[in-house]
Order: sequence, then structure tokens, then C-alpha cells
Amino acid sequence: MERTRWIFAGQLGEQFDDGGRMLLVEAKSVLARAPIHRAKAHLILSAMRHRAAELGDRVEYHRVEKYGDVVAGRDDLEVIDPTSYGARAYVRRIGASILPSRGFVSSEGEFAAWAANRGGKRILLEDFYREVRVRTGVLMDGEGPAGGQWNYDHDNRQSPPKGAVSLGLPDPWWPEEDEIDAEVRRDLDRWQADGDIHLVGDDGPRRFAATGAEAELALRDFVESRLNDFGPFEDATLTGDWTMAHSLLSAPMNLGLIDPRHVIDTVEAEYRAGRAPIASVEGIIRQIAGWRDYVWHLYWHLGEDYSTSNNALAATTPLPREFLELDGEAIEARCLSHSIGGVREHGWAHHIQRLMVIGNWALQRGYDPKQLNDWFVGMFVDGTPWVMPANVIGMSQHADGGIVATKPYAAGGAYIKKMSDYCGGCRFKPTVRLGPDACPFTAGYWAFLDRVEPKLRGNHRMAQPLAGLRRLADREAVVLQEAERQGF
Ligand SMILES: Cc1cc2nc3c(=O)[nH]c(=O)nc-3n(C[C@H](O)[C@H](O)[C@H](O)COP(=O)(O)OP(=O)(O)OC[C@H]3O[C@@H](n4cnc5c(N)ncnc54)[C@H](O)[C@@H]3O)c2cc1C
Ligand code: SF4
Repeated sequence: MERTRWIFAGQLGEQFDDGGRMLLVEAKSVLARAPIHRAKAHLILSAMRHRAAELGDRVEYHRVEKYGDVVAGRDDLEVIDPTSYGARAYVRRIGASILPSRGFVSSEGEFAAWAANRGGKRILLEDFYREVRVRTGVLMDGEGPAGGQWNYDHDNRQSPPKGAVSLGLPDPWWPEEDEIDAEVRRDLDRWQADGDIHLVGDDGPRRFAATGAEAELALRDFVESRLNDFGPFEDATLTGDWTMAHSLLSAPMNLGLIDPRHVIDTVEAEYRAGRAPIASVEGIIRQIAGWRDYVWHLYWHLGEDYSTSNNALAATTPLPREFLELDGEAIEARCLSHSIGGVREHGWAHHIQRLMVIGNWALQRGYDPKQLNDWFVGMFVDGTPWVMPANVIGMSQHADGGIVATKPYAAGGAYIKKMSDYCGGCRFKPTVRLGPDACPFTAGYWAFLDRVEPKLRGNHRMAQPLAGLRRLADREAVVLQEAERQGF
């Protein structure tokens, strides 16, 4: 029997197509499960409909309420193993034939073999990443790393240029919307008006690639105009530059539109041709062959209940309205206001805004990690169930007690001041922790340490910050001030 390959929203590129009959199902119930950023809903539908147009009469395309309306009772379906526990259980329930997953640098088997050979040692990103480099030959000169070093973090992560409000790079490539996008917009408006879905965030021009060809243009543009600055300013933030030198490729990679290995080979070729510095090239390859793959494999390795059963710091505060409605304007802290406002506008923020502003704030304020995880999935164009647990539950919120990161990513205003131009125009002062000018990140940092001290006492990486807390003369007053803080 000829099989029909049912492809999902994370499998929309050529790498998921072996030439036979295809099935795409646009189920409205998937968008209706939880509040979703308008830009994300738009991007997913646009990418699916563009893919259907490309496949022409090789694809069956259905617009229905739920998957079962199309796939129930069919015995001709095959799938490439999908990217969430829920979807994997579903395709097994309906008896689809299952092929190994694709779309990552290392296969699930390769990761499992590496993890099994650790002899009880921790599963560390750095060790995994180096093994990938050796196994694939990416950025290797013989048996050693190209350039002589495995890690260029020391050269990267500079503060932003003094006095600048932007990096001054050319505007990134943006897609041109077409009739498919216009139709998606009309459908979303109608479903929202009918109360079928709950959209959050601004409607704006589509900013992320929705086809393989567009993803290739986005990659070329990144390589030509931003790759060289990627490394040095990887962790910097400027109010007048929402993209900085980032690649904007997470959404097309997570949609399956572009193969991460192709992105890696393209940037490595720039280094080999002498057009890009090793620090930037290693920096981005580390993000893709290292971090992206690592969080994907950890999603399966850590198990389905990892994101629901971990709350090591006993964080139970519900997310505030400002987060749920992406109301950056209601927030006074300039760094947080700008980051949440950016998410409202684009459904995207760069890594340091996600980790050191939004995530840091949530950690300090004790937001419920599971609710935060789901909020990130819904509000970010690149949000997927697999990418979030290691990033949010693990790295950002330390809710797993130290499986993914050895210490919480908590920082006060001094760090934000060093890495951004936020503090100059803020009504708070990053150096002040008590009184009306007290920076809520600086004071919040101490109040956080005060709250979690009993839980982190045994963590030797926290010894210094906790010693600082014990020396704090106004500790009680700062803790009380933050407990009573109304606005932020
Ligand atoms: C709290 C939090 C939430 C995040 N949510 C997401 C998410 O929903 N989807 C997502 O793809 N990434 C997420 N990340 C990782 C990272 O922030 C984004 O991949 C990146 O900001 C996307 O922008 P970019 O494509 O311009 O990335 P660049 O800075 O250009 O980096 C290149 C690529 O590296 C990969 N990458 C880098 N770091 C990570 C990481 N920690 N996890 C996974 N991939 C990584 C991405 O594919 C990215 O496209 C999150 C990180 C944190 C701390
Ligand atoms: S002073 Fe504090 S709240 Fe204001 S921008 Fe700086 S870190 Fe953020």
C-alpha cells in the first residue's frame, strides 16, 4: 500500500519530504488550546499553507476542527516521529507507521549512546557539544578545534558600544507578505471575533521566514550583515535595536523549513573563506549544534513529567496581568517594559532578554515555573513544547534543582546596566536597593536570595552570593520592601 506522509508544523521543509504523497491537517483546536501570540499563529498557518501550495497535487490539505476529523480510521499514514510527547502518543494511538525524527544535528540514537557512556557523569552541554564537533567534523582541524580553542566565550559577550542605541547594522531581511498571508490574517480575525481562539500581541507585518526559500534568504542576510558581530554582541541589548546581531533563524529552524546542519555548514564556510571571525562562527555553531540539539535531546531524556513535577524553589506566584496581556507599557522597569513590549510587537525577544530580563524577573518574583513555561510556548514565534522545559524549568528558573544549570540565573541591576543601555532612561537606579529609587531587579535579587537561602545553602556556586546576603546591613528592610512592592 502506498503510504501518505502526515507532516506537522515542525516538519515543513524539504528534509521531511521523500517524494511520496503528503498530508497536512490544519486543526483549529491546536490553536485554541491556550492563548497564543498573533504573530505565532500567523506564522504557523502561513508556513503550512505555503507548504501546501509548494507541494501542489502531491498533498491533501484539510482545514478542520481537530485532527481526528481527518486521520481517524485511516490505515495508510506514516509520520516522521513528531516533536512533542502529546503528538507522539497520538500518532501511536492511531496506528501510523513511524520513521525516526529529523531536523537536528544529532539523532536521538546518537545522543542516547553518548549519554549512556557517561558512566554516571552529569550530562553537560560543553561535553555534548565537543562530542558533536568531533563526531561530525564541524569546525575541526584534524583532531583539534578550528582556531585552536573549543570555546570563545571570553572574546564574545562584550558590553554594547558606549553611547550607542543600536549596533548600526543594516536592517535585516524581511519577508514580503502575499495573498496567503492576507488570507491567514482574515481567518485569524474571524476566529478571534467568533471567540474560537485567544490571540495576544500585536498584528504586524510577518517578520519570520515561512518557506524554505525565505529561510535561505534570511540565512544569507544574516551571514552577510550580522554574523561578524554575532559573537561580540551575543549578550548585549540596546533599546534601539530589537534584533541586534542575532540570526532570527529559530522560528524557521523549529518549523523545519531549514536544516540546522545547512546553517552550520554555511557559517563554517564563511570562516574557512576568511570572511568571518572564528569567535562569531564558533559562537553560533555552539548555539545550534550545542544548545538547540541539547535542549531537544534533554526534552526526551528528562521525561514527560520533567516540566510538571519540578518546582525546587517552591515558586507559586501566578503570572501577572502585564505578562499575560504583554502590557509592557504598564511596567515601569525600563528593561522589563522594553522586553515585554518587544514580545508584544514581534512575538520574539533575543536570548539575553529572555534569560536575564524576563526569566530573571520571573525567578526573583517566584512565578510558577510551569505557568511560565506555557506562557513562553504561547507567546514566542519559535516556542515549542520541546524547546521550553530545559530553557525555562531548567536554565532560567532552576526549578529542577540543578539538573540543567548548576546555579540560578539571577542577577541584579548591575548586570543589566553593564550589558544594555536600559538603565540610563529608567526611573529606578540600578545601584540603589532601598527607597523609592530602588531598582526592582537589584532589590529583587537580594529578596530572592533571602527566600531561597535555605534551599541553596548546599550549592557551593552560591556560597559567595549568600555570603554577600548575610553581610547586607539592610537585608530585612529590602525583603520587606520587595514583599510590599505594588508596581514594577
Ligand atoms: C527562557 C528562554 C526561553 C527560550 N525560548 C525559546 C523558544 O521558544 N524557541 C527557541 O528556539 N529558543 C528559545 N530559547 C533559546 C534562544 O533564546 C532562542 O533560540 C533565540 O533567542 C532565538 O533567536 P535567534 O534565532 O535570533 O537566535 P541566535 O541568537 O541567532 O542563535 C542561533 C540559534 O541557536 C539556537 N539556540 C541558541 N540558544 C538556544 C537555546 N538555549 N535553546 C534552543 N536553541 C537555542 C536557536 O535555534 C537560534 O536560532 C529560549 C531561551 C530562554 C532562556
Ligand atoms: S534601573 Fe533596574 S529596573 Fe531600571 S532598567 Fe536598570 S535594571 Fe532595569
